[in-house]
Amino acid sequence: MSQQVKVPFADLHAQYLTIKEDLDAAIAEVIKTSAFIRGPFVNAFEKEFATAIGASHCVSCANGTDALYIAMRALGVKPGDEVITSAHSWIATSETVTQAGGSVVFCDTDTDTFTIDPALIEHKITPRTVGIIPVHLYGQSADMGAIMKIAARRGLWVLEDCAQAHLARCGDKTAGTYGSAAAFSFYPGKNLGAMGDAGAIITSDEVLAERMTMFARHGGLKKGDHRIEGINSRLDGLQAAVLSVKLKRLESWTAERKRLAGVYDRELSGLEDLEIPVAAPGRGHVYHLYVIRHPRREELKRFLAERGIETVINYPVALPFLPAYARMGARTEDFPNAYRHQSMVLSLPIFPEMTEVQQGLVIDAVKTFCKG
Ligand SMILES: *Cc1c(COP(=O)(O)O)cnc(C)c1O
Repeated sequence: MSQQVKVPFADLHAQYLTIKEDLDAAIAEVIKTSAFIRGPFVNAFEKEFATAIGASHCVSCANGTDALYIAMRALGVKPGDEVITSAHSWIATSETVTQAGGSVVFCDTDTDTFTIDPALIEHKITPRTVGIIPVHLYGQSADMGAIMKIAARRGLWVLEDCAQAHLARCGDKTAGTYGSAAAFSFYPGKNLGAMGDAGAIITSDEVLAERMTMFARHGGLKKGDHRIEGINSRLDGLQAAVLSVKLKRLESWTAERKRLAGVYDRELSGLEDLEIPVAAPGRGHVYHLYVIRHPRREELKRFLAERGIETVINYPVALPFLPAYARMGARTEDFPNAYRHQSMVLSLPIFPEMTEVQQGLVIDAVKTFCKG
């Protein structure tokens, strides 16, 4: 069954080749100036990224997981505090609540968008609830209008997990500008990816920005002046230089992802038993992943693999049902949508450099499977 890969799930090398000259030059410049830690490349990227999202501050850090953790420490999460987040996400979203000292409270997603269902959030709020972490999963923003209303009414902070949603629009704003802060990942495969680990937090709250900066830099803003105990979480100069080069292309890459998603939508809609992604009105989708649902998901995945098409399951087990959360004793009926989706979701290849031939192979194979 070792079939040659005809359509990879993503192709970072193809992307590198499109910007090789600029990237190589940027990397050489960092090496020439030895600006490996902090310095001009990191400062420049922080400014550029804050502007791209539409916020006043960007605090760069080592990865997206740290971004969530740092934000929560700066927001003051302490033992006993409850934080509500989506049952359907990557474990970084929830494990950082625990790391920050709080208690995770999972909330189910809605029936179609894989994002937290605002109608269920209020039932999860207790006197100990301090905040909500909506996840803009797969690139589609959560229902921020509804979530911000609940947060305002109940006096809760909102931390957006934007790891999969760079430049996603929601209403008339960019995802990441609704909450007190937003955590981004620049893991290589994300829509804006470094050549290694990297992350950032965006905020327009100056006090919070300073607290996050301080915590991420050993508790001090000036050398030798440690006000608190912090951690060491920084973005490398090399990664910052790479990200600055890539950020210039992000808008056109995002447009290409949307175009490819449109082709999939058109070609794959109406097939028996297959559900294409639901793009809710007014909720931007930047298609970090193109996730279909099929009741015979495993069979479909195998069928595509036999034809050289790579797919991924994001994620095979919803967070409440992971062994890591066995202590909570979640029952499948507590999170019916997350439970239903974990056995149905399948992410098809989608990346800006994907060729028409590659996408055609995927479309034909999925159609053949569904009609067979
Ligand atoms: C990738 C990701 C993270 C964590 O980012 P890293 O850079 O890998 O630490 C957090 N949340 C979600 C939803 C992610 O997809």
